[in-house]
Amino acid sequence: MTMAYQVKSERAEEFIDHSEILDTLSYAEQHKNDRALIEEILNKASQCKGLTHREAAVLIDCDEPDLVQRIFDLAKEIKQRFYGNRIVMFAPLYLSNYCVNGCTYCPYKLQNKTIARKKLSQEEIEQEVIALQDMGHKRLALEAGEHPTLAPIEYILDSIKTIYSIKHKNGAIRRVNVNIAATTVENYRKLKDAGIGTYILFQETYHKENYEKLHPTGPKSDYAYHTEAMDRAMEGGIDDVGLGVLFGLNTYKYDYVGLLMHAEHLESRFGVGPHTISVPRICPADDIETTDFPNSISDEIFKKIVAVTRIAVPYTGIIVSTRESEKSRKEVLEIGVSQISGGSKTSVGGYAESTPDSENSSQFDISDQRTLDEIVNWLLELGHVPSFCTACYRMGRTGDRFMSLIKSGQIVNCCAPNSLITLKEYLMDYASEDTKQKAIKMIEQEVDKIPNAKVKEIALRNLQDIAQGKRDFRF
Ligand code: SF4
Ligand code: SF4
Repeated sequence: MTMAYQVKSERAEEFIDHSEILDTLSYAEQHKNDRALIEEILNKASQCKGLTHREAAVLIDCDEPDLVQRIFDLAKEIKQRFYGNRIVMFAPLYLSNYCVNGCTYCPYKLQNKTIARKKLSQEEIEQEVIALQDMGHKRLALEAGEHPTLAPIEYILDSIKTIYSIKHKNGAIRRVNVNIAATTVENYRKLKDAGIGTYILFQETYHKENYEKLHPTGPKSDYAYHTEAMDRAMEGGIDDVGLGVLFGLNTYKYDYVGLLMHAEHLESRFGVGPHTISVPRICPADDIETTDFPNSISDEIFKKIVAVTRIAVPYTGIIVSTRESEKSRKEVLEIGVSQISGGSKTSVGGYAESTPDSENSSQFDISDQRTLDEIVNWLLELGHVPSFCTACYRMGRTGDRFMSLIKSGQIVNCCAPNSLITLKEYLMDYASEDTKQKAIKMIEQEVDKIPNAKVKEIALRNLQDIAQGKRDFRF
């Protein structure tokens, strides 16, 4: 039986239809650098209503320097319109690296016998969280390998409870996003009830045949179960989900089209597209060399992927991690990225103590090794507002409620004051002297730009109250 593309289908092979991707790629190839069509697509994109996967594929294929520059310029403009100059900060927290899967590109795979295996106890999680709070973090992304007995859902739920319960000095983790293996509707419901923010799961690659080669063993080898995970998460009540592929595993053009089709599928079936899209690309780790991956992508292509994503899915948050170097992060911040991690450790137990053992349990090597304070300082220097905001899900702004606010551009009325309020908390509690001075200047400058008089008045009052020792205001 031949499959046919059906955006609303519940079946992975229909909403990520292989022939539709191939047809899209050949359409993009036929229209490579077709000026008239690209102009038309850019015009449509400037309305900020997004693009179809076919239109986005034409932009991804374009390599005429002046047209590529137009793509970057438009991405920058859309980023400003939706997100202003704020950048949300987060840190990953690795709970356990025991894993029953055999993903060929990941050092946590079951077959890797050289890596140090570790699972944090609740006491160790507490130590990690205190270390993260002492850096100034408020938002975490939990990471864990898949293991039915060593890291079952109950362990993840207990860990979330522990994390939210720790209040050290003025610190608090206010939003826990979760990146764990594809699971059942029932387990997603439990995660929702535990108060998670976004459920993040990377598809790795949308190319079924290559997916199966890259995931030869373990539960993750089931392409359909993995690809349909977001549908189950939505059915379980999680309405903020984060997509991503690991660029470099397969050809980026194929995966990019798949990624956009996945976003279109969620929007069409549930009325809510992806809350975030992450753009990791393959990088070295314990037993992984990038030379093993001939599809790994250049900085130029990486930049184009970020820009086209900003244009094609304007409502989504775009995340880059510390896999990327300072230079690469600087470039993509301008053209679309809205969230970055800082001061990250990708090893289990890496925050509380950095021992050779914990380093040897890393999932990937970090390019950007700066501390959170150095990154905050750098962002301020570049004119961005580092934000520790976690307000939306705490105010019930999730799923379609969030989407209607962001699509209408109104979310800026919350994001802008929240970024200043949380930056003020950071500078009072954690910043170095130099960062503090820069942050004070930035807050003065930005608070003046808040257009709504009432919002501005409340924000000013909150800023004063924070200076007096009060915390946790939000719009
Ligand atoms: Fe396990 Fe995830 Fe690594 Fe695969 S990518 S081996 S599932 S930790
Ligand atoms: Fe994110 Fe909402 Fe805060 Fe804006 S107000 S930064 S969208 S959590």
